[in-house]
Amino acid sequence: MKIVGLTGGIGSGKTTVANMFAEEGVPIYIADIEARNLSNTLPIIREEIIEIFGEAAYQNSILDRKFIADKVFNNTGLLEKLNSIIHPRIAEHFKEWTSKQNATYVIKEAAILFENGGYKECDYNILVTAPKKTRIERILARDETTESDILKRMENQWSDERKEKFADFTIINIDLESTRNAVKYIHKSLLEMI
Ligand code: ATP
Repeated sequence: MKIVGLTGGIGSGKTTVANMFAEEGVPIYIADIEARNLSNTLPIIREEIIEIFGEAAYQNSILDRKFIADKVFNNTGLLEKLNSIIHPRIAEHFKEWTSKQNATYVIKEAAILFENGGYKECDYNILVTAPKKTRIERILARDETTESDILKRMENQWSDERKEKFADFTIINIDLESTRNAVKYIHKSLLEMI
């Protein structure tokens, strides 16, 4: 079974695109959601996070993501420690999940794929892009957040130009109909290539 990575900057529409692949019958794994679930349910992750970040990292047994994000922001050492706790467990969970799927390929959606070398573990990679202004508008409409917070999060991700060099396919997600057509085209191409 082949693994197709799917990524894009915040608000580009990764999850929207992943859901379109799901409509084509492709199993999808949303790494950020799985990481969130594992952080709350896997005792080993919990213990290691508390060891590094203290008891305040969890509020009522739920990982306080804002607390963690504030701690690791601009602290590469801590971010690396956090990744070394989460990443191996996610990789293991993904492998186990993959072994249960019955499909030609699966989609692994991850916010960070090129930045951390994760794309190398995928057979093909898809990048979703949209103009920065559009992405900010989408996030403001979806989440309770501020423009400066969004810009701060964007700074931690590579630019689309840099990511495009690594992608096998790029979807410019502006209008949903064109995006759906692009998904159908890529799905067909992948089935032919695999
Ligand atoms: P994040 O990085 O924050 O997880 P994402 O890249 O997964 O975001 P989505 O959650 O898919 O992005 O999309 C962000 C918001 O924009 C959602 O509310 C979604 O419904 C909307 N959206 C996505 N694509 C389009 C589009 N082509 N036209 C209009 N709205 C869209």
